[in-house]
Amino acid sequence: MNQRTIVTPLECQSGSAAAHFDCPDGEFTVNVSANVELAGDATAWLPPAIFLSMKTCTPLYVSGPLDEQIWRNAKDAQHVINSWWPHSMQTVDVDSASTATPTPGHDRGVGCFFSGGLDSFYSAVKNSPAITHLIFVHGFDIFLNSHSKRHYDKTIFEIRHAAATMGKQLIEVRTDLRTKFHRLGRWDVGYGLAHVALLLSEHLHTVYIPASAHCGDAPPRATHHELDYLWSSGAVQIIHDGLEADRVQKAETVKSSPAAMESIRVCFWNRADRLNCGECEKCVRTAINLRIAGALPLCTALPPINPIRALTRIPADDPSTVYFLKENLGALQNSDRDDPELESALESALHRSALQKATARSWYIFTVVKVLGLTLREKAYQAIIARRGDTD
Ligand SMILES: [Zn+2]
Repeated sequence: MNQRTIVTPLECQSGSAAAHFDCPDGEFTVNVSANVELAGDATAWLPPAIFLSMKTCTPLYVSGPLDEQIWRNAKDAQHVINSWWPHSMQTVDVDSASTATPTPGHDRGVGCFFSGGLDSFYSAVKNSPAITHLIFVHGFDIFLNSHSKRHYDKTIFEIRHAAATMGKQLIEVRTDLRTKFHRLGRWDVGYGLAHVALLLSEHLHTVYIPASAHCGDAPPRATHHELDYLWSSGAVQIIHDGLEADRVQKAETVKSSPAAMESIRVCFWNRADRLNCGECEKCVRTAINLRIAGALPLCTALPPINPIRALTRIPADDPSTVYFLKENLGALQNSDRDDPELESALESALHRSALQKATARSWYIFTVVKVLGLTLREKAYQAIIARRGDTD
């Protein structure tokens, strides 16, 4: 068994990158492709490789030139990660074949990761004058398998439309990083985003990672304001952006963007037939954010939602839902908006009796079963289409 984790970048054709990983749990290769050229050196592979080495508690050897700045910062990055998960993530030695000082070209731009959600629209709209490129990654929140194809097709259509409306160049990346790391139980989107940002060093000198948390509420996870900037290299500065705004403040900012109002994508359930289901907790939460911001009637990306009625069907029995209900209530009470009906509905959702909680949970289960039925019908439809294609 190998007592080191070794990552080796592989020679690739233009628009592709790959690396071979050899660790105590086995060997595998990660492949990435894009509609632009990708950096071929070892630097971009360091963030995922460090997570893998820390998890397996094995020294890391990077078989290729490594950017000197990120190598120096790797120690600080490991200390941050170890302080969050002291029992499962141990600091390790990092060694590389050599270090390199980048000599990037001058004609490079500013990128922003863009999934089409409220957080990414906020960073894209807020930093719009500086941003030249939006970055969409296929393989992180939408899987690469054939079952997700229609959902991906619908999503990328909206993403391309939004980028064109905002006048930004869209970089489309496809990667099996999540698939390979998930099998080992070591997937986290944070190091994945840093990895992709560093792969784009020939095109971008700065990359924004939109924050999903607000101020000091950020839970330890691998995209975090204390960690993301430590993955910056001599060629690419990585910025964790948007910590200053809650979701209602983000809605206030994006309501002026026609692209956001037409194409925002927030849904938990990823149905192939529509961008947002209008029934899950996140769709309802976002509809309330937009209503408080006075933007719900402008938002054609969401189906018509009556947030007052929808709230009665959202179980408020997990910490995340309670957090967002309180965030919406606080934002409404601190705003100039006079909306006693919504305020009362939010208060009621937060102070339900056991019977009301059980009723809300029943409604939610009914909705989940309905969506599951629609998804199975969609998969059957896909299978029929695929079989017809085989016999044509
Ligand atoms: Zn939804």
